Amino acid sequence: MIMVLCQQEDGELHKVGLELLGKARELAQDLETQVTAVIPGVDISHLAPILIQHGADRVILVRHKELKNYTVEKYTEAFCQIIEKEKPEILLLGATQLGREIGPSLAARLKTGLTADCTQLEIDKETKLLLMTRPAFGGNLMATIICPNNRPQMATVRPGVFPLKNADVNRKGEIIEFIPNLEGKEFKITIEEIVKKVRKGTDITETKIIVAGGRGIGSKEGFEQLKELADLLGGEVAGSRAAVDNGWIEKDRQVGQTGKVVRPKLYIAVGISGAIQHLAGMQESEYIIAINKDPEAPIMKIADLAIVGDWKQIIGRLIQKLRQE
Ligand code: FAD
Repeated sequence: MIMVLCQQEDGELHKVGLELLGKARELAQDLETQVTAVIPGVDISHLAPILIQHGADRVILVRHKELKNYTVEKYTEAFCQIIEKEKPEILLLGATQLGREIGPSLAARLKTGLTADCTQLEIDKETKLLLMTRPAFGGNLMATIICPNNRPQMATVRPGVFPLKNADVNRKGEIIEFIPNLEGKEFKITIEEIVKKVRKGTDITETKIIVAGGRGIGSKEGFEQLKELADLLGGEVAGSRAAVDNGWIEKDRQVGQTGKVVRPKLYIAVGISGAIQHLAGMQESEYIIAINKDPEAPIMKIADLAIVGDWKQIIGRLIQKLRQE
């Protein structure tokens, strides 16, 4: 069985779980096995049909009042109990903040390996092992990793790496309730209060248009201009790691291997060279426009439209034109 550990907050599913269910369905066909989605929390019953529509054959609602708010200890304990009971061959989870913390914690408890931040998952036709591919050596090569002996074979995948498949409203599945035994266990962390950070604008993984800037922009003020263009187009501004490291844009707007993976309809890369670690986060965009003064920059080779020139003049003219419309 393939198990996907899903995540919810205030009764809303994190979409990476749904993306993984779509991928798990493909893998399950090669293994001729079932897909089980596991969702922890309290008020979670309404999520089961959504998980089934996205590919789960079975949904296990791991329900307990102690699981209302996430803490790594309680979630690890609850997940370990269900994993040890169900014994999945493969265990997938999103490389979200939660997944990055709980993945290693689970792997240690289950005495198995974990391949983090996979960009591809396949079943080896002969051995039936999970082939887990991820960037290695600073993104300079892709490593395919197997976990031949221990179980489950565990992988995390970042949001946006696999496409979100359409829901099939006719799919049927089984819904099971599991109440973990968390009584009498000593947990060191308790959540007293949750203070949410108010996010400015839309998450860059959700927007259809992105105007991204790199080192070539040269300053924070330069990013104000990109923001103006993004606003006029109804999109969001993002950046390369160089732009984030320079403090010109917030870290949660970084695109790439150590940032976010985006798949917008339009990605405008301005003053970005197109290092492999940046491409890893945006090359699946539907239409890419690159603006760069260097015609040989790698980004120009993957762009659908490559504009050679100084970004200030090109963006300035674009803004002027859009303002007139
Ligand atoms: P540069 O490579 O310096 O490119 C600047 C570009 O701007 C050049 O092509 C130049 O021709 C152009 N330019 C300059 N002036 C102008 C002008 N006036 N008009 C038009 N064009 C101009 N990078 C990421 O982006 N995201 C990641 O998640 C990420 N993760 C990484 C993880 C690891 C482990 C490592 C080792 C690196 C990672 N990097 C990441 C860094 C990556 O290798 C590059 O260093 C980075 O992407 C370069 O950013 P850049 O394209 O903005 O800058």
